[in-house]
Amino acid sequence: MLPAVYTVFYLNPGATPEVCAIVAEQLPEGWTLLTPNGVPPNRTGARGGFALELARCDFILVADHPVTAGHIAAAPRLKMIQHQGVGYERIDLDACRSRGIPVALTPEGTSIGVAEHTILLILALYKRLVTAANGVRAGRWPQWTLRDRSFELCGKTLGLVGFGRIGREVAKRARAFDTRVVYFDPEVLGPAPAELDVTDAPSLHALLAAADIVSLHVPLHAGSRHLIDREALRSMKPGAVLINTSRGGLVDEAALVDALLSEHLAGAALDVLEREPPAPDHPLLYMEQVLITPHIAAGTRDALRTKMRAAFTNLLRFTCGEPPQHVVADSIGAPTSTRAS
Ligand code: NAD
Repeated sequence: MLPAVYTVFYLNPGATPEVCAIVAEQLPEGWTLLTPNGVPPNRTGARGGFALELARCDFILVADHPVTAGHIAAAPRLKMIQHQGVGYERIDLDACRSRGIPVALTPEGTSIGVAEHTILLILALYKRLVTAANGVRAGRWPQWTLRDRSFELCGKTLGLVGFGRIGREVAKRARAFDTRVVYFDPEVLGPAPAELDVTDAPSLHALLAAADIVSLHVPLHAGSRHLIDREALRSMKPGAVLINTSRGGLVDEAALVDALLSEHLAGAALDVLEREPPAPDHPLLYMEQVLITPHIAAGTRDALRTKMRAAFTNLLRFTCGEPPQHVVADSIGAPTSTRAS
């Protein structure tokens, strides 16, 4: 018999007190929330970092911090891990499986936030928004100097690599800009919903060759690391742009730098990098045609509220003996898949 009240450890050292307060708003009555106040960020082992919180918690609620075998071993009462988003590649699924601890995702709130951010990045890059606004702030008035390098979305072809939850939300929004949408996703079976009015590309190469804008919406896993490598970049249309709101590891950044320097690509907008934050001398930081945001695609107050409501609802389901939603199949030993149910 499970106890009626539980302790949740919010394993997110980057969370500000304001963020923790939004999380706490959704906490079920009587439950306890532990936050890693005062614990230095980026600790990957349990010993010395989070030891007290892990020893007490029934559930871990995590954003993008790793959950290692060490963390799991240090949490004897742990029953389930709830990820507040969907990118779970930093959770040790083998360790979860061997302890019988399911990992559940929270797509609620995530997909819309990332889709809106994707459209924002495309428009900002196409319109050279940051360069124009910074120019004005610096006392210039770049009314004409950016014009030959600025574009509109209408009439362009947007290529979506990955057509799951986020890819579909992006497609929906892109159609409102009169953009043609083509996608490549080997796991999508059957035609996409007719109202999305999208075309299925026969291969990644075909998509890269057709798209003016390539946007990545696939999980990072062993088979997708550096999916966009030197050869893939060469396959892209001259003058195309690359958008990545998924995971930094999908792109070979050295090859991307070369593709931009050679002007084969006109620009890139990235919410994620292979190393976050990047080294201060990373060349992508200094390229005018590159726009980088700090992994905030799903990072709105609205999305956080929606996620927390859904995350705690899922934990409550679990404590009531109902099967939790969006469980990662690999965490419970179900057949291997890149997707959660
Ligand atoms: P999803 O599981 O619903 O969809 C992913 C799709 O990618 C699936 O349909 C799958 O078949 C497809 N796919 C897998 N490997 C592929 C490949 N090699 N080529 C083409 N398609 C492939 O996931 P989602 O909810 O749409 O999220 C996608 C990713 O977005 C997440 O895995 C995460 O990494 C990222 N994400 C980023 C942020 C952020 O803040 N920047 C927030 C949330 C999610």
